[in-house]
Amino acid sequence: MQQAAAEMCTPAVCDSSDLLLGFVNTGPLGGSPDRLTGPEDLAAWLARTGLAGGTATGAVVTGADAVAARELRDAFVAIFRAHSGCEDGEAALPAAEDYLERIAPRYPLTPRLSADGVRLVPAQDGVLGGFGALFAAAADLAARGGWARLKMCKDPSCHTGFFDKTRNSSGLYCSTACSTRMAARAYRSRTKNAAVEGR
Ligand SMILES: [Zn+2]
Repeated sequence: MQQAAAEMCTPAVCDSSDLLLGFVNTGPLGGSPDRLTGPEDLAAWLARTGLAGGTATGAVVTGADAVAARELRDAFVAIFRAHSGCEDGEAALPAAEDYLERIAPRYPLTPRLSADGVRLVPAQDGVLGGFGALFAAAADLAARGGWARLKMCKDPSCHTGFFDKTRNSSGLYCSTACSTRMAARAYRSRTKNAAVEGR
């Protein structure tokens, strides 16, 4: 498994997955507050990621941008939940896919060609370029076969986004702590049911 993880986690895959996971993980997770509640939060996220075409400190970020960011985040979360087989993710999936299809033209990408390869980069800078970078990261991961490995932890008390590094892409939890906790919960539930049935 160590070997598979090393192969999968090439620097570019990590950059793309880190950007997307950092974005979905601004959400209210495991009791921590939402870190994308207003324009200041979005400006801080853009500055942290180095996005917005170097204008992070000067980019004008509005309340409407923050609303758009949260809608975009919800759509990514629905897809990553569906990747980890969460039923609520699958239920929300058609609306999320429709939403992404509808808004993608607002954030056009352009191919950047070099002798080393081709990559898609946002055609705009500022906030729109920041959102475009998320679409570019998704396209990059998909081209490398890593898209379906972006998941949300199935532990309902966690729901953290993570990159599934298992060899057969079967990971459901972000950490051993979460998988152990869920296994213990399932065990308690089984023994409780057995006790009820044995009455
Ligand atoms: Zn977790």
